[in-house]
Amino acid sequence: MQVKDISRTKSAELYEKAKTFFPGGVNSPVRAFKSVYGTPLFIQKGNGSHIWDADGNEFIDFCGSWGPLILGHNHPAVREKVTEVMQNGMSFGAPTALENELAELILTNNKFIEKIRFVSSGTEAVMSAIRLARGYTKRDKILKFEGCYHGHTDALLVKAGSGLITFGETSSAGVPKSFADETIVIALNDKDALQKAFAEFKDQIAAIIIEPIPANNGLLLQEQDFLQFLRDQCSQNGTMLIFDEVISGFRVGFEGAAGLYGIQPDIITYGKIIGGGMPVGAYGASAAIMDNISPVGPVYQAGTLSGNPVAMGAGIAQLTELLKPGFYQELESKTTAFVSAIQQYVADKGYTLKIFQLGSIFWFAFTGQEHIRRADEIDAASMAYFKIFHRELLNRGVYLGPSGYEVGFISSAHTMDDLEKTKLAIFDSLDIVYLS
Ligand code: PMP
Repeated sequence: MQVKDISRTKSAELYEKAKTFFPGGVNSPVRAFKSVYGTPLFIQKGNGSHIWDADGNEFIDFCGSWGPLILGHNHPAVREKVTEVMQNGMSFGAPTALENELAELILTNNKFIEKIRFVSSGTEAVMSAIRLARGYTKRDKILKFEGCYHGHTDALLVKAGSGLITFGETSSAGVPKSFADETIVIALNDKDALQKAFAEFKDQIAAIIIEPIPANNGLLLQEQDFLQFLRDQCSQNGTMLIFDEVISGFRVGFEGAAGLYGIQPDIITYGKIIGGGMPVGAYGASAAIMDNISPVGPVYQAGTLSGNPVAMGAGIAQLTELLKPGFYQELESKTTAFVSAIQQYVADKGYTLKIFQLGSIFWFAFTGQEHIRRADEIDAASMAYFKIFHRELLNRGVYLGPSGYEVGFISSAHTMDDLEKTKLAIFDSLDIVYLS
């Protein structure tokens, strides 16, 4: 059934004005709705699983600020803690007990790291982890995988060139070629390429960095065996294994992907959920590795707002909720039921759609492939389907991130009623995608 397009009058006005202030009218590119229909929606408020835009349109939100809001918007425990902390001021640039409190909460419930350092974004966490790995190993090269995103730090804004093992090519203007030359890029799920890289750059690779649950270019679920292979190869070659858990950390379990797969990385980076919606990132490792960081060690890293009390308060309140018994099981079973019902509908109708899911993360792939483990296995043409799907869902009150390469998230605030309504909206939207 066709429905009317939502009104975007106010959002469009705000967007026009924003374009006079910000490049492309936004402060982060994907928000500009470049690969979907219409102008970006300017969001006015969020509560639980719902958001409202400037025109008063209401949506059930599956973007969740790109992952941090595992409890939904404006969760009372987080809001109350932030408000309480703010009574005493917002930043001191000096240690506070709140940093200890958040660190203790994390370290006593996560056996994969012994010490942690708080920063203010995922990008900063990754940048610092790379520096730590280089400082610790006294090597310069790093290896990343095509299709994993690690923030906008120079060394990682690099894509694969042609060939099995390549030095990266910069994927942004302004990244010196000499920086990209320190980054080796290979495909995910390719053991041969990894071994060849180790052979070709013997004793030169400081770290391998991977999103153990790659969720920035579709959801490219890896096999346990591949992740274990990385661990073993790193150990044999004196290379550090960095798990970038900015999305997966505290999302697929309190111990993230390291806990899920039972694999001990050398360094782990976090962001998003750890800050409860405030700007926070973190990196952690064994005490021996972390003690290479300034002021005890030679690897310099600092931040005016690092460990900011308001952000720490938000993190403490959010992570406390996650530690309640059954939290993750409930979130996962809710997501599995949701995904299965859609997958069943798709099967009944004979549509070629596969929904990849892990825990409360899901991704709609408009293809018939059973597994997609590498970036180059995604059919770019399938994004045309997503574009229609996205518009139809917005028109039916469901908000997904504005790109077919982005995953969706379910939060504890999504009710059965929300998911029921969303399923119906999805069924109708899929009918339009496939029958129009
Ligand atoms: N690493 C991963 C895995 C991410 O998903 C992101 C952000 N989506 C980052 C790093 C960068 O984090 P931020 O946007 O907070 O700088």
